[in-house]
Formats: sequence, structure tokens, C-alpha cells
Amino acid sequence: MGRATRAIIDLSAICQNYRLAKSLTAGADAVAVIKADAYGHGAVRVALSMEPEVPAFGVACIEEAIEIRDAGVQKPILLLEGFFTADELATIAEKNFWTAIHRVEQIAMLEEAQLVTPVNVWLKLDSGMHRLGLDAPDYRQAYERLQACKNVSDIVLMSHLACADELDKPHTVQQAALFDQTVEGISAPHSIANSPATLAWPDLHRDWIRPGLMLYGASPFEEPQLNADKLLAAMTLESEVIAVHDLKAGEAVGYAASYVCEENTRVGTVAIGYGDGYSRHAGTGTPVIVNGQRTKIIGRVSMDMCAIDLTGLENVDVGSKVELWGAQLSVNEVARHCGTIPYTLFTGITRRVPRHYI
Ligand SMILES: *Cc1c(COP(=O)(O)O)cnc(C)c1O
Repeated sequence: MGRATRAIIDLSAICQNYRLAKSLTAGADAVAVIKADAYGHGAVRVALSMEPEVPAFGVACIEEAIEIRDAGVQKPILLLEGFFTADELATIAEKNFWTAIHRVEQIAMLEEAQLVTPVNVWLKLDSGMHRLGLDAPDYRQAYERLQACKNVSDIVLMSHLACADELDKPHTVQQAALFDQTVEGISAPHSIANSPATLAWPDLHRDWIRPGLMLYGASPFEEPQLNADKLLAAMTLESEVIAVHDLKAGEAVGYAASYVCEENTRVGTVAIGYGDGYSRHAGTGTPVIVNGQRTKIIGRVSMDMCAIDLTGLENVDVGSKVELWGAQLSVNEVARHCGTIPYTLFTGITRRVPRHYI
């Protein structure tokens, strides 16, 4: 009934990708990163299904954490961006959230707070990405203040990598060296690895990995990579053909009439567009799968629809299923055609697209 556009989410694939992440390490723990609504997969459903095997979840901010906690998830939830204002601290303590600390001002707020219970903090070093984190010369003193603070329970030493997906750049090695030099002699767990580091930088697994993207079955790398190739796609984005037109050579398709048929062309109109989060940057040639057969987008993606080439395909008509990415077509390949990364495609899927869980 109704519009057939939907995202089918395979929760068991996410759990298997999580197990793969852990299996690559020598016994590290893993925060499952489910920020941005679990990269568009639905944070509450993903968290509830993973909870039995996940020691902690990671989100960007307290609003995301509250939604997940209020839905019944009981494991600790780490705020990767930390807290912004002192009034968040009471909620952090009450709801068993963990928080990143990336500015000295946050330490002062912690010292002055009256909390029901001390909180677990992840002290972030800016090891070279220059996004969040304390500078190396300030790090040790910050650690000592946190250690002396009555409102702090455990401390994890954390940093984030800028270039872990680019294996031949020197940045990751340099960031790791600065981290190791800065924390030398401090006895506390380390956490450095995001998905690309989990997949390809074993030396950086340490005590806690923080995989995000890989849980959803997409690769953080441009090129094929041994471990990334084992990931299972968790989201299949699909719709259906809702109209078919046989066009003659010279006739045009869609807005701006930008695609002109070179020969007689059977064109299918598909009920998905950028209003659903299917990228308008998916230009002519972007692959799609219709009834198991590979074909391509033609012309401009519009808000609610797009056009595909059905010429020469078998058993295809109004009602045929169209996969935009998923089990048969990797989101990485689509992202390349769109000049973007799987992260933006996943997080761009809008509320109009119902998620179906299997
Ligand atoms: C988003 C995020 C992650 C997960 O990154 P992926 O590349 O999706 O694995 C890990 N750590 C921090 C601090 C993050 O912000």
C-alpha cells in the first residue's frame, strides 16, 4: 500500500559488523557509535538490538543520548562532543552518560558541580586534527585535575584521527606519536581508533575502539581493503518504477532537459528523489539495480522522483523494485558517483523514508 520507497535495515548485519570490528583487535572493547540516528539507520532500534553485546554507545550530544536512554537502552552512552553547558552535568550523572572533555573550561564546570554520582570522562587530546581536544602541553595537568576531582570516576585517554582512511599519508603515525608521547606514564585506558583505524591500523586499537561507519557495512576507504571487504551492507534503499515511457532518439528526460536520448530509450520513473535523501549529485550513469539487473540514473534527480534507463532490461515494468544501494549495490560505489562519502548518503536519508527492520 502506498509509496514503496523504504530503507530496509538488517540489524543482524550491524551486529556482525560489530563482531568483525572486535575480532580484528586483541581484545579491545568497542563503543558502538550511533550518532546522527545511527548514521540514518535508527539509533533506538540499532541500540536495542546491539545492547546485549555492546558495553557502551557513542553519540554526538546529550539530546541524542537522552532519546536512546528514554527508549529503554541501559548501557552507558558516551557524548563524543562532550557537554556544552554546566546544566548538562546533572543529567549526565543521573542517566549514566559518559562524556568527552576537550576544553579546560569543562573541567572547571565539573569541579564546581554537585552530582549524585561521579561521571566517567574521556579526556581528549588534539593530536593534530585541530577540531576538538586539549593541546599536548595542557593535557597532563588536565588529567591530574580530573583525577583529583570528586565528580570524576574513570578517565579514558582519547584522541581522534584526521587521515586514518589514507594509508600512505604520514599524519596517522604522527598523531599516534604525539599521543603516546603526551600520555607516557599515565596509567589509564586509551581510545584512538575510528572505523578506518579499526580496519587498518592495528597498533591503534588500544583499549577502546570507536567504530561507526563500518557497523553499517560501508567502507571508509576509497580503495578495496582486506577487512572492509568483509563488511555486510546493513541498509538497502529501495523504491519502485511508477511509470514507463518509450522515448525516441533526441527526446529529453527530466528537469532542464539535461539528458537527451541518443537512441530510442525506455525510461522508468522511480519514486525516490532528493526529498528522500537520494542525492541530487547522483548524475547520469549512477548505478541502480532493477529486478536484479544493473542499470543507471539518467537526467536530473528531482525532489520526489528520478529517471532510470530500462532499455534492454528483462521483465521490468511499473511496479518493478529498484535498489538505489544496499545488498546488491554498494553505497561506496554510489557515493563515488555522487562525489561524496557514504556518511553523507546514510545521514541524508529523510524522515519520509520509512525504515523497515529485519
Ligand atoms: C564519529 C566518530 C567516530 C566514528 O567514526 P567512523 O569513521 O564513523 O568510524 C569515532 N570517534 C569520534 C570522536 C567520532 O566523532
